[in-house]
Order: sequence, then structure tokens, then C-alpha cells
Amino acid sequence: MMSSLSADVLVIGGGLIGSSIAWRLTQKGARVTVADAGNLGGEASSAGAGMLAPGSEASKPSRWLDLGRESLRMYPAFLEELREQTGLHVEYRACGCLVLDAGSAVPGVRVEQRGADLFYPDEALIDPSALLRTLRQAGKKQGVLVEHGALTGVDASRHGAVVVAAGAWSSSLQVRHKGELLPLPESTPVKGHLIGFQMRQGLLGPFLRKSHTYVLQRADGLVIAGTTEEHVGFDTSVEFAACNDIHRRAAEVVPELAAVEPVRRWIGFRPGPELEDGPVLRQVEGTNVWLAYGHYRNGILLTPVTAQWIADRIAG
Ligand SMILES: Cc1cc2nc3c(=O)[nH]c(=O)nc-3n(C[C@H](O)[C@H](O)[C@H](O)COP(=O)(O)OP(=O)(O)OC[C@H]3O[C@@H](n4cnc5c(N)ncnc54)[C@H](O)[C@@H]3O)c2cc1C
Repeated sequence: MMSSLSADVLVIGGGLIGSSIAWRLTQKGARVTVADAGNLGGEASSAGAGMLAPGSEASKPSRWLDLGRESLRMYPAFLEELREQTGLHVEYRACGCLVLDAGSAVPGVRVEQRGADLFYPDEALIDPSALLRTLRQAGKKQGVLVEHGALTGVDASRHGAVVVAAGAWSSSLQVRHKGELLPLPESTPVKGHLIGFQMRQGLLGPFLRKSHTYVLQRADGLVIAGTTEEHVGFDTSVEFAACNDIHRRAAEVVPELAAVEPVRRWIGFRPGPELEDGPVLRQVEGTNVWLAYGHYRNGILLTPVTAQWIADRIAG
């Protein structure tokens, strides 16, 4: 459908990125409509594991690392502000991350050597679905309007500003400005599988990583293990072979998992491709169109910094 709204700001996509931008913009006095193809964030943002792990993710200094560290610093105040506004509590645990059989850490990142392993004490976990619910609630309280349905085309001239935040789907949108179709940087889906085990609470302290495998635990005992990186388009099938492979690798990290059957198996589409210099965060030159996508493996981590960055610039 073609958007018929002429709100001050139209945000396309209601995942963590779009919802947090909408919330921040209303705080600055904008009238905001979020258009979402599904149920506001039923995609990568609720599928993600929830590691806030800029240092243990990094293999070299980069804009990803800089933005990630900044966003991690912003998280406690960001959550407190949301709690004050909504009364809702989002599970957040500054438990640190232990990387097993680690190589060397990137200079400047706080890290402790523990034998062959590296411990990143500043890293944390969050429940991304709870964060989404809270952002949605905070936005609603501040008057964010929601339009359900997939947009195919948008005429940006009808809005004060348009923000493209449709994750892996972003570059499929036809965004026009003064009649001209804008070329958008490519977005591609990178599918990832995750599996979940119901275990006793407190089994894991820090979250654990070994090579491409990670294992973490939520407060209710759910242990989540991941993952895969698959370039298969928007194929939503949950593959048992992929899940079994994650299970095998996770049991090498936490041997207790070997004898337990997963209670959940699911997939999500990371908004790729993985760009060298971080996500696509910018204004399309000479237009009122803003781009906020391509957060790849780190969109949950980068939510506070992205929302602040885009909202500050749109508000001028
Ligand atoms: C398996 C997996 C594990 C992950 N683990 C982590 C992690 O531990 N830490 C971390 O920081 N990140 C993690 N990520 C990455 C993170 O989930 C993403 O980077 C982030 O959620 C992207 O948020 P988004 O709002 O840009 O996209 P999405 O959450 O995908 O939201 C995009 C929204 O756009 C909507 N949309 C699409 N097309 C249209 C259209 N045409 N019109 C209107 N709306 C549209 C969709 O309905 C959707 O709600 C993980 C991702 C996956 C898949």
C-alpha cells in the first residue's frame, strides 16, 4: 500500500530501531507515525539473543566498536527513562561475557585474562522482546500512531521527514522525493537460527562464547544458544540440521546441555550486509529522508545510540 499519512515524521518499520526512534522523536515534539508490515517488531528484534557485547564481538577497532561501546554506556539510563515512563521493567543483567579459548582482545576494551579465556566485565544481556513491548508502550503514551501493513512506496514530500528503519527489508522500499526514486543502500537478510532450553535458574552467570557459538541465560531459566549465518533470502523454515549443529556446539560450551532437548527453535533475519563502517545511519542528501538500518548482528546493542543519533539530527 502507499502511505496516505501526512504526519510530521513517518517511520517505516517498528522493530527496536524504528520504535526507539519514534519514541525519541515524540519527546522532541514531533508527531510520529510508525508503519509496520507485521505486529511491530515480530522480526529480528524479537528473535535476537540480546547480548550487548561490543568488545567480545570485535576483532579490530571500528565504528561498530565505537558505537557499540557508546550505546552500552547509554543502556542503564535509557532503561531507567523507559521504566519511569511506563512502569515496566525490562530484564537487563550486567553479567559480563566469558570468551573461551580466546585470541587477543581489541586494544582499549576492558578485559581480564583468565587462563586461555578472556572475561569482558562490562558486557550485558537484555530481553529484546521486553524492550520492544516497553518502547511500544512508551511510544503509545506519547502519542505515536501506528499504521499496520507493508508499505511498498512512500512519497517523502508528503511528510516532514521519513525514516527508513525496516531492517532487512529496507532497500526493497520505493522511496520518492519530489517525484524522484531514491537509490537506497542495499539491505540483505542474513538468517540465523537459535535454540532454547528450559534449565534451572542461575545455571549461567556470564554469557559464554566460543568461536561462532554462544550460550546465555534469561532470568526465568531459559538458556539460549546460537547461531548460524545463512544467506538464503527470506526463507523462514526452521531447519533441524542447523538446530542440531547448534546443540552440539552449545554442549561443548555447557556440557549439561548435551542431555537436554530444546524447548524452542526459531530463526530471524539480521539486517545485512555487514558493512565495514557500521550501520547505515544518515540523511539522503538533499532530501528529508533518513536511513537507519543495516545493524546486522548488533541492532539490539545499538538501539539507544541509533535512536538518539537520528532523533537529534531530525530535530535539528
Ligand atoms: C539470530 C539472531 C541473533 C541476534 N542476536 C543479537 C544480539 O545478541 N545482540 C544484538 O545487538 N543484536 C542481535 N541480533 C541483531 C538484531 O536483532 C538486529 O540487528 C535488530 O533487531 C534490527 O532491528 P531493526 O528494527 O532494524 O529490524 P527488525 O527488528 O527486523 O524490524 C524491521 C521491521 O520492519 C518491518 N517492515 C519490513 N518491511 C516493511 C514494509 N515494507 N513496510 C512497513 N514495515 C516493514 C518489519 O515488520 C519489522 O517489524 C540478532 C539477530 C538474529 C537474527
